[in-house]
Formats: sequence, structure tokens, C-alpha cells
Amino acid sequence: MKKCCFCGIKCTNSNRAKEHIIPDHIQKRYGLPKLEINNSHSRIVKNDFAGGHISIYEPERRMTFSGFLAGAVCENCNNGWMSNLEKSVIPFIYELAEARLDVRELSPQQRSSLAKWAFKTASVLSDSVTAPQNKVLISHISEFYKSADRCVPNRVAVFAEQSSERDHLWSLSPTWMVSTDIDLPKELLGDLSRIAYKVFVQIEFLMLIVCYWPFNELHFTREPWGGEQLTSLEVYESQDINCLNYFGKKSEAFLMSIGVHLG
Ligand SMILES: [Zn+2]
Repeated sequence: MKKCCFCGIKCTNSNRAKEHIIPDHIQKRYGLPKLEINNSHSRIVKNDFAGGHISIYEPERRMTFSGFLAGAVCENCNNGWMSNLEKSVIPFIYELAEARLDVRELSPQQRSSLAKWAFKTASVLSDSVTAPQNKVLISHISEFYKSADRCVPNRVAVFAEQSSERDHLWSLSPTWMVSTDIDLPKELLGDLSRIAYKVFVQIEFLMLIVCYWPFNELHFTREPWGGEQLTSLEVYESQDINCLNYFGKKSEAFLMSIGVHLG
């Protein structure tokens, strides 16, 4: 029997919430319920996960946004803290999504609420899709739930940016630009990168990335053009590459522009 991915209580038919991965209020506002989501299922190709909107492979299963449901969330979580969290981001999340407010203009309170919201959404997504790797760690979801104020775990960074194109996308990205000034065996890097996660969600113009690398000495990197950090880790600016030159869509450029420096 599945357990609530947050509090761990057993989910039965009577206490299991019909929790949408993309929350109801957002679906209703942007007319999403009947829209087909083409990337709701992932597949494994040559031992690598290929899923989400960056996948070049045909989806294995098609469904609508209204049918894109969380694997297991209990009624208590859904009606309690999760409902309060949704209320804490309304209405400014609409203003961000509709590009009437810039991510750089958020107040400290709004930044904190949006970071928690992004982490909650990335967690529900991770618990619900079939991807074998590059998901929010169960231990992180538990740490988030148990923290007094539902805080984003310490070593997790959340970035926000706005796209020039309206879209509704998600991705559990397996691809990172990794720079390092220490000598790490390739196999070790490969193993670490499978535990790392970079979960992307786009709602209209608003893009959010929740990321983590299982390495103690690290800094996340971003490019000078974008990626406003909502958490408070020290972030390096990478000067060498401009992903905007390599990708047709700003969402793809943003996803790739967030990297990591080890060492
Ligand atoms: Zn629960």
C-alpha cells in the first residue's frame, strides 16, 4: 500500500486525496484540465532516464492535466499545510506566471513561499512519475515535511526565471554542466549524477528549478542572464557559455544554464 509521500501515513481509499500534480487553481486559471500532457510518463533508454519535455522519445502514455495525479498524498496533508501553502502563493504566483511581476521583484516572504511551493511541487512530481532516477530524494521530502516551517532542505537550491514563451512543461533533467577543479573518477561522477536532481516546472511564463547534488564541496552555477535564486546558497556565475545561443527555447536554455561546480 502506498504511503503519503510527506507524512508517511498509509493511504487508503478513504484518506487518499485526489491531489493534482499541477494544482487545481492553476489548471482552472489557465484552462489546463482537458489539455493533453504529452510527457506524463517516462521511459528508460540505454539505462538512462528520458522523460519530461526535453525527451526526444515518444511518450508511452497520454493523459490530460486533470488526470495527472499525485501517486499518494493523504487528505490531512492536502487539506492542511498544502492548502495553506497554495494560499500563500496566490495571487503573486499568477502575476509571475502572467509576467506582470518580475521574479526579481519578490519580497523575502514571497521568495520563501515560492521556494517551498516549488519544492512541494517537485516532490509530488517525483513521487508520481515512473522515472528511476533524478528525482527529489525521499529523505529530502521527509526533512521538508518534518521541519518546523516546511523549509526547503539546506543543500537544495531553487531558481526562478521567466520565459519569453508561454508554456506548461516539466522535466526531471539528467543533464548538467559539471565543472570541477579536483580529480574525480568518471564512474564516481556518473554515480553522483544519478542521485543529483534538477526538477523543472513551467507555468505560463514562470519557470522554476529545484536542484541538488550529492557532494559536500559544491556551488551551483548560473549564467549572467538569468536564474534568480529563491534559496540562500552561494552561487557562482559561469561566464564561459551562454545557453541562450544553443537552445531555441528559453525553457531549455534555462534548464541547461543551471550547472554545478565541484571542489
Ligand atoms: Zn500526509
